[in-house]
Amino acid sequence: MTTTLGTASAAPGEMDTGRLEVGETRDGSSFGLPVAVINGARAGKTLYLQAASDGDELNGVGVIQRVVPQLDPAEITGTILIVGVVNYHAFQVAEHRNPIDDTKMNRAYPGNEAGTSSERIAAATFEIATQADLILDLHQGSTSRMIDEVRVRCGKRHRLHDDCLKLAKVFGCGYILDQKGPDGQLARAAPDEGIPTVDPELGGTVGWDEESIRKGVEGVFNVLTYYDFLEGETTVETQTRANGFEQYGAPGGGLISFERDLGERVRRGDLLFELTTPFGERKAEVTADSNGILWRTRRLPQVASGEYVCSVATDIDDY
Ligand SMILES: [Zn+2]
Repeated sequence: MTTTLGTASAAPGEMDTGRLEVGETRDGSSFGLPVAVINGARAGKTLYLQAASDGDELNGVGVIQRVVPQLDPAEITGTILIVGVVNYHAFQVAEHRNPIDDTKMNRAYPGNEAGTSSERIAAATFEIATQADLILDLHQGSTSRMIDEVRVRCGKRHRLHDDCLKLAKVFGCGYILDQKGPDGQLARAAPDEGIPTVDPELGGTVGWDEESIRKGVEGVFNVLTYYDFLEGETTVETQTRANGFEQYGAPGGGLISFERDLGERVRRGDLLFELTTPFGERKAEVTADSNGILWRTRRLPQVASGEYVCSVATDIDDY
């Protein structure tokens, strides 16, 4: 059966790319999101994949750009539906939030087709996503520095929690954050529709990070083989799981230097970072409140009082 996504249309054993029209820009021209359909030669499950829901998170675009040319529809069982760039307006101006409504796309799901700009795009992509059996929503820690991890956002009491956690483990970045996310995330809204969904967070960078993109490509192929879209074996490895997060802000203004590397284990009371003046005078030392892993840090050293500095993932176990 032919599968259609926007202007892309593929018969079994074919793939096609096209546009999914979602509205008009300020000059009245219509705009569409870049989409791809890979229709496998044999019928099977459907995987939905999207990237750049947050407009400055480009590693996911790098992943899709490398995965698609490696896919041969003749070898695929099932269908892969892809939206290559979700946050159209933010992507144009290399920003995180959609500048048309100053909204974060990953707080707008499941969307509203008569709503704000972000809600309309969310609704259009949610409609496609919810045709699938599995969803991968490729993100990263924006332009902050962050480890490569996969987020399970439905919450531990959700009926799909085990399925989402399984998908995260199969993707296999090595780390999982298993914590109920804020309202409006695709990885929260889609499990409510019965679809296992995870949010791989592929590092954090300005532009593209080679290592994170490589892990993302590997993760997508792990999912494709494990869930039988492709033949082959996936080695599912034990992941380090974090069940919570603690954020640290700057106790004053000045310059931050970190005492720990990203991914390093910290114990309660360990020095995390130092705050100094432009003349190197020490103003403050900030220590960890709990045992955990240094998960994410700001990129720039200068901070004002209260400004975000870093996050420590807590309540760590193996899964
Ligand atoms: Zn994001």
